Order: sequence, then structure tokens, then C-alpha cells
Amino acid sequence: MHCKYVVVGAGLAGLTVAERIANEKNEKVLVVEKRGQIGGNVYDSYNEDGILIHNYGPHIFHTNDREVYEYLGQFTKWNDFWHRVLTQVDGNLIPMPITLETINRLYNCSMTPEEMERFIEARAVPMDEIRTSRDVALSRVGEEIYQKFFENYTKKQWGVDPADIDTSVISRIPLRYNRDTRYFTDKYQGMPRYGYTRLCEAMAASRNIRLLLNADFQEVRKELTWDTLIYTGPADEYYGYKHGRLKYRSLDFVFETLDCESYQEAPVVNYPNDYDYTRITEFKKMTGQENRKTTILKEFPKAEGEPYYPFPTADCRAQFALYQKEMEQEKKVYFLGRLAEYRYYNMDAVVRSALNLYRDRIRTEG
Ligand code: FAD
Ligand code: UDP
Repeated sequence: MHCKYVVVGAGLAGLTVAERIANEKNEKVLVVEKRGQIGGNVYDSYNEDGILIHNYGPHIFHTNDREVYEYLGQFTKWNDFWHRVLTQVDGNLIPMPITLETINRLYNCSMTPEEMERFIEARAVPMDEIRTSRDVALSRVGEEIYQKFFENYTKKQWGVDPADIDTSVISRIPLRYNRDTRYFTDKYQGMPRYGYTRLCEAMAASRNIRLLLNADFQEVRKELTWDTLIYTGPADEYYGYKHGRLKYRSLDFVFETLDCESYQEAPVVNYPNDYDYTRITEFKKMTGQENRKTTILKEFPKAEGEPYYPFPTADCRAQFALYQKEMEQEKKVYFLGRLAEYRYYNMDAVVRSALNLYRDRIRTEG
């Protein structure tokens, strides 16, 4: 079968490009997806108790990119939601990221912002060069806070010491000398009112889009020809692993529905130093749903399994660069998204890349 446009993967990356081709360019596009549903990792669904859960882990939309916010806003209304996280340290639940509230709760005191600055400054470890995630944390907050909040969480999440992964990981977590305990400070934040799956269905609603679900591209590849291919699956898989398998971090998601209205004080509680899981999400506290039961999710990190997080080391990036070289030789094959670009992308950044790819390359081509 010949299709002018084929998109591999019906996650946010693939759907954004497919939507633009279908609705702006008014061309037909085939979307090949190996799972039985669309949405990729933002897929959500109602469980048997009628509670909306995020099947692949908690997803909170946040961005400073107004165009991305407005683009997605064509497909969903947003519920206001300011994400907050508590973390269990020394037996207490303390706000994360590190803010004035965190320090005051941790040390049972009432510092002012200026006192906190002096306090942190006295503990931060001076460094000539920041090379790893450990360096990031130590140079910002010093040994004690690093050990209590970052060291063990990171070991659990990545299976290695923070000194063995690059700066990008712990740099995701800000340090604030004020009382703003929101997890993100982006201008636009929210939850899609009817969930991410409904958002994705609206993106894919065009008659120009044909969805082929339960279809692994590696298996259907020989049956298809195309003028332009947009590939959002794993880079190494596309090239038959010729430069070896790229390393990813995976997760086991364990859901429990409890016969109580509320389980914990915040939508997410992190457990840096206890248990084998990293965090517990209580979905009702993100969606605002009412139900006499509640569903929680525990995340257990692991090495093998579905690829969720590209591994953040220089060696892994060097290995990916071998694939990237191959990609640059391709004509009218575009690689996009968390798996194909091997990048720790947030949702808004993936949509931004997809819009750019469409605008700069696909819109203008014949
Ligand atoms: P994916 O969603 O992975 O989509 C890729 C699609 O390609 C999948 O559907 C896959 O099945 C399909 N595919 C793969 N191989 C093939 C093949 N051979 N043939 C056919 N189809 C194939 N971002 C935020 O902004 N906020 C958050 O709070 C947040 N929380 C997250 C929590 C977790 C646990 C994880 C893992 C990610 C989180 N993210 C969050 C990131 C977010 O999930 C990604 O940015 C986004 O989903 C990436 O979209 P994508 O289309 O690139 O990839
Ligand atoms: N992190 C940590 N302690 C925490 C939360 C996060 O050490 O309480 C580190 C950890 O290495 C994690 C990274 O910061 O992988 C990024 O955290 P984020 O919450 O952004 O992770 P994600 O939601 O992407 O899994």
C-alpha cells in the first residue's frame, strides 16, 4: 500500500504532525501504532470503579509556550491545576521542590527568605565545574539536603549514583527562596478537562487521518511505501539495533483502588528514602473527580521493559549520535519525539518540536 504520509506512533509527537498534515495541509495520513490505543504515554482511561487514571504515570501539563498551549486548547478545555508534591523525609511530609517552606518544615524553624539564602549559601559546596547531577545538587543545597531529598530518590529512579548521570536530571528540580510550593511555575498549567485520551481523540478526528492500531511498524513496514515518513518510535529499533540497543529506564506501574475517599495529602507524594517505589500518585487529587473510592499508583523503576526514560549519560548520548548520523542521511524521513530523538522531553516540548517540524519541513514540501 502506498501512502503519501505515514506517521509511526500515535503519541503526542505523532498526533501533532498527523493533525497538521490532515487539517492544515488537507492531505491524507496513515498513523501506525503498535498499542491498541492512541495517546502514547499520555493515555488515560476510566478503571472499573469509574476513576480516571493515567495508565503510564502521572501527567501534568505545564508550559510557558503560549502557542503550544493554544494549539492543544483547540482540542480540550483545561481545568486549572497547580501541581504540588510532598516528600517523606525524616518521617515528615515536606513540600518539594526545595523552598522556604521545605527548609522551615525540615528544621522546624521560621526563616525569612534572606535567612534561607544565607543558610543555603553556607552549606552549598563550591565547585569549579558542574559535571553531574550530584554536582548540581551539592553545589546548590549542600550535603545534608542532597542526602535527604535527592541522593536515594535518584539512585532508585535511575539505578545508579547521581554522580553517574548528567546534570540535566536533577537540574529539572528548582531551588526557591520563597513560599511558592508549586511543583512547576510555568505560566500555563492544567489538566485536560475530559482527560488526555479525549484530547488525543480530538486531534485524530479528521477524516484525513487513518489509524492503524495494534500494528508494529517493524512488521507492517514491508507492506507500506510512502513519500514522507515521520517516525516517533525508538531510534535503535528503526535501524535494527545496528549500533547496539540504547539504554532506557523503565517502570512498573502498580495501581490500587482503596475503599476510602482520600488517601494522601497531595496529588503526589515522593518517597526518596523508604520503599522500592519512588512516588505515589492519587489521581482524584489531580483530576478533581469525586468518587467514594480512590485509586493510587506506585511507580517501581526497573532497567528492562517498555522504554520510558532515555538514559542520561555521555556514553548513551554518544551511542545515540551514531544513529543520529544515519538519520541525517535519510531523505524525507523525519525522527521526532522522546524515543526517536532519545530526549527527556516534556509534553509541551514534544508538541513544540512537532509543530516546528511541520512548519519548517513538511508544510512546504510538495
Ligand atoms: P510516546 O508517548 O512514547 O509515543 C510514542 C508512540 O509510538 C507510542 O504510542 C508507542 O506505542 C509507539 N510506537 C513505538 N514503537 C512503535 C512501532 N515499532 N510501531 C508502531 N508504533 C510504535 N511530561 C510532562 O510534560 N508532564 C508530566 O507530568 C509528565 N510525566 C511523565 C511521567 C512518566 C512516568 C513518563 C514516562 C513521562 C512523563 N512525561 C511528562 C513525558 C511525556 O510522556 C512525553 O513528553 C510524551 O508522552 C512524549 O510523546 P511522544 O509522542 O514523543 O512519545
Ligand atoms: N528527584 C529527586 N528527588 C525528588 C524528585 C526528583 O532526587 O524528590 C530527581 C530524580 O533524579 C528525578 C529527577 O529529579 O529523576 C527529575 O524529577 P521529576 O519530578 O522531573 O521526574 P519525572 O516526573 O520526569 O519522573
